[in-house]
This record gives sequence, structure tokens and C-alpha cells, in this order.
Amino acid sequence: MLERRLLLSYFAAFSAIFLVAALGVRFAFVAILDQQTATRLQDVARAGLRSVLYGNQSLAIDKSEISNTALLTREQGLQWFDEQGRLLGAEGLVAEVDVPAIEGSREIAIGERAFNTVTIPILNPKTHQRVGLVRASEWNEQERADIRYLDTGLLIGTLLAIVGSGVGGRALVHRAVGPVAQSFQRLREFTADASHELRGPLTAIAASADAALRDTERDPLHDRARFEAISDGVKRMSRITSDLLLLAGADRSLERELFVVDPGAILTRLFERYRPLFSEAGVGLEVTTEKTAVVYGNPTQVERILVNLIENALNYTPRGGHVSVAVEPTRTATLIVVRDTGIGIAPEHVERIFDRFWRVEQARSQGGSGLGLAIARALARRHGGDVKVESRPGAGSEFVASFPIRPARVD
Ligand code: ADP
Repeated sequence: MLERRLLLSYFAAFSAIFLVAALGVRFAFVAILDQQTATRLQDVARAGLRSVLYGNQSLAIDKSEISNTALLTREQGLQWFDEQGRLLGAEGLVAEVDVPAIEGSREIAIGERAFNTVTIPILNPKTHQRVGLVRASEWNEQERADIRYLDTGLLIGTLLAIVGSGVGGRALVHRAVGPVAQSFQRLREFTADASHELRGPLTAIAASADAALRDTERDPLHDRARFEAISDGVKRMSRITSDLLLLAGADRSLERELFVVDPGAILTRLFERYRPLFSEAGVGLEVTTEKTAVVYGNPTQVERILVNLIENALNYTPRGGHVSVAVEPTRTATLIVVRDTGIGIAPEHVERIFDRFWRVEQARSQGGSGLGLAIARALARRHGGDVKVESRPGAGSEFVASFPIRPARVD
């Protein structure tokens, strides 16, 4: 729809430009032709003056003069008039009609034919008085043919240009609109997913509140269960909304939040926090830190990336499995690697797991909202790094968060 509208406006704009350009060219061409004809006829008329023989009272025309010079082409002619407008003589091709001679340029039409004419005065060389007029004329067939050629050329050229611009425009619009249409599609999917995620807890809250309202006899135990359900729903919704807010801000510049962060210290703290959860799930947890390694960035966000990766490792590793977290500095980046011996990820899902709200089908029951990895990757990219994964279904996964080593100067 958007594409068709854009294409139509593009097409209309280009057609208008081509048409205006064609009209401009035609206008200029006709003006130049007229100018050239006028100059040519001026010369012919001036040459016609040479045939005038000045008597005391009258004028005569010396016809041999003009034929000798062989001045006239087959389409041109000359007419001499006295001061009273009487025709004194004519030479060459002239309009066979009685049209009074008036000084200046004009067109004389005879049916289909037309003559361009230029009339100049005959001045007595002694008195410098006007004693007559000489009119040079030219059948404008050639000029008309030239204009017809030009019109045909311009018409074909303009049509070709319009068709060409249509074809080119289609390709251009397709290229320009493609990414926009894709973002629209993604936005639509995102809105649908977000609404879907928020509807779950909302339905639970509404159902519990309705049930409590309908119950006429208050039972503290029942009420307690309902309030707990409401509280859970609210917590879940507020977690999703704050995650979404975090994601929405993930493309802001990090400039004002740059700190030297010690990933070892964060991991030691997280180890203490998660040890009880891991042992409850029967999954081993091991953390290896590296004293010299540093990350430049927002410490809360670096911690958030690690929390998301560690919680996933715990969630997707069955009892008896093992999770190890290690800081591995390289020459260009500080890597934080989270390895698990969990269920792994099928190759066709590997890139999709970073999409917002995307979860492997069996994982839906786990209760995550599907935003964890999207957030981890968005935050890591905000720090100039990334989160990547390698995984074998059934054998485990290895998530690597990388943070580039920046120059020592930190603003
Ligand atoms: P969720 O809230 O569902 O955990 P995430 O964005 O963190 O959302 O993860 C998206 C999906 O990627 C998960 O639903 C799960 O299917 C898969 N996944 C993430 N981490 C792992 C892991 N360590 N092992 C296996 N699958 C994983």
C-alpha cells in the first residue's frame, strides 16, 4: 500500500518534470527558429532595397538585380510597395493574396499554408523620407516540418523517460520501502507479542479479583490465595514492562555511564547469590575470575547481562548438570563465558533465541518472558560488544558475552 502510494507520487512527480522540461525545450526551440527566420528575412529585405531605383516622383524596381544575386531560395520572395501601399513588383514565392504591407514581422496565413514576413521601409537616400516598403516572405513549411520533428522526438523521448523512470522508480521504491516495511512488520509482531505476554498476568489478576468479589462469604485462606495470584500477576507485568523500558533505552549512548567495572567482583557476588538456587536444582556452579580483566561500562547493565545468562543456564540445565562461568581476557576484548551441560538449542533456533519474546516451544512452560537474551544482547551491543552462542542439542550451550577493550582514557 505504502509502496504503491510512493510509486504513484514518484511517477507523477517525474512525469510532471519531464513534461515541463519537454515544453521548455519546445518553447526555446520555437523561439530560436522564429528569431533565425526574422534575421534571415531582414537580410533578404535589405538585399531587396538594392533593386529599388529612385525617380523624382516615383519608384521603380530593377528586377535584374535581385535575380542576379540569386539571393532568394525557392521558399522565399520579395514584394515592393509604394507609400500608398500599391504593389510595385514581386519576385520569388510570395503570398498570392492582397495583404497590406505593415512594417515589422508577421505571419500571413493562406489556408493550410503560412508565410513568415518581415517588412522594412524604403528610404529615399537623399531626403531620408520613407517612400515605400519592401516585404520579404518565406513559406514556413520547413519551419513547420522542423517543429513536427521536434514534437515527435520530444514525445517519444518523454514517453521513454517516463517509462524508464517508472521502471527505475519501482526498483528504487522497492529498495527504500523494503526495510521500512520490514520494521513495520517487526513492530507489529512486537506489539502483538508484548500484548500477548501482558494479557496472561492481566487475565489471572482479573479472574482472581472477580472470584473474590463474587464470593459473599469471606474465607481468609481463599482470599490469601487470590491476593497471592494478583500479586504474582502484577510482579510479572511490572517485570515485563521494566524489561521493555530497558530494551527501549538500549540504543541510547553510553557516554555518561562509563565506569571501570570489575567483572570478577560481580561474578563473586552472583556466585554467592545463585549458589543456593543451583544446589536446590541439583546443578553444579563454578566461577573462574581473572584479576586483571576489566570492562568499561554501566556496572548494573554488565551485571544484568551476566544474570540473564546464568539464570538461563540454570533454567535449561537438568538436575545433575554443570554450569561454569569464566572471565577470559583476550587481546581485543574481555570475554565472559557461560557454559552449561543443559538441553542445548537446535541449530535452526540459534539466532531466533535473541529475538524479543521468542522462546523454544518447550521452554514456554518455564515462565520466562523471552526477553532475557534480547536484553543481554542489546546491552552488550550498547557496550560495543555482543552476545553469541554455540550449542549442541542435548549436550549443552556456551554463551559468550564480549566487551571490547577500550583505550585507557575514559571520559
Ligand atoms: P526466557 O525468558 O524464555 O528464558 P530468553 O530470551 O532468556 O527467554 O531465552 C530465549 C530462549 O532461548 C529460551 O526460551 C530457551 O528456549 C532458549 N535458551 C536460552 N538460554 C538457553 C540455554 N542456556 N540452554 C538452552 N536453551 C536456552
